[in-house]
Amino acid sequence: MSLLQRWMRRWRRPPAIPDALWASVLAELPFVTAPGQPDPARLRGLCAHFLAEKEFHGAHGLAVTDAMALSIAVQACLPLPHMHLPDGRPPRQPCDLLDWYADFVGIVVQPGAVLARREVKDATGVVHQYTEALAGEAMDGGPLMLSWEDVATAGEGAAQGHNVVIHEFVHKMDMHDIALGEHPGGSPPLPRGFLGHASGADARAHWQRVIKAAFERFTEAVSLAERFGGEPPWLDEYAAHSPAEFFAVTCEAYFVNRERFGTEFPELLPLYDGLFRINA
Ligand SMILES: [Zn+2]
Repeated sequence: MSLLQRWMRRWRRPPAIPDALWASVLAELPFVTAPGQPDPARLRGLCAHFLAEKEFHGAHGLAVTDAMALSIAVQACLPLPHMHLPDGRPPRQPCDLLDWYADFVGIVVQPGAVLARREVKDATGVVHQYTEALAGEAMDGGPLMLSWEDVATAGEGAAQGHNVVIHEFVHKMDMHDIALGEHPGGSPPLPRGFLGHASGADARAHWQRVIKAAFERFTEAVSLAERFGGEPPWLDEYAAHSPAEFFAVTCEAYFVNRERFGTEFPELLPLYDGLFRINA
């Protein structure tokens, strides 16, 4: 984000979110106001800026109402209020935190899941084609896609630790600092002084050591359940796909069901608190 853009954001006063709309959207998302969640006033201020900066597009004739846009904004901004900036410094103004999502403007809202054609080349060089049903998709530097059907069930999904909006927006955070054509690796930029580390290299090494161990424990539990029919671990087994998906899926749970998350992933709780709650 250029200095001019940041300056304009600071001086622009986005339209205030009407009280009745704010209350009705929050009533559908009880996890947002659960104990320990970010300060609602800060969240509301960020949402007003978010709505002023982002453009919503309904696909296949879907009309994106104010309530739909605000619901997406609330969930997208939920990780932000107590963070540092992507460069590791504290924000000068709360709205600077939207720098995390500054690489795109468009949010495409589909009525339901989208079938995407995929191709993978296996180790022997054979190309496999398949279709995948997507509830959302985030691309580096590109627009973000969400399925409204999946966004609309966020309130019920919280018990299972599920949230598609948070999933896609933390992918965007993970995409900072990656080179063009590279894939994110479950290793977002960390705040200065992360968990008391004096150097950025030590902080990153700590992050990667803890998340790698948790990822391996999870993937082992998934394959044990598949092979021997045991109890599958809590959370979508899609998290076993890659460290980036593990980070996104576990962040969903961290924000919508902190209590169960802390029981299931005690090693990740201080790690995510160090990233998301440094200014709390
Ligand atoms: Zn994902």
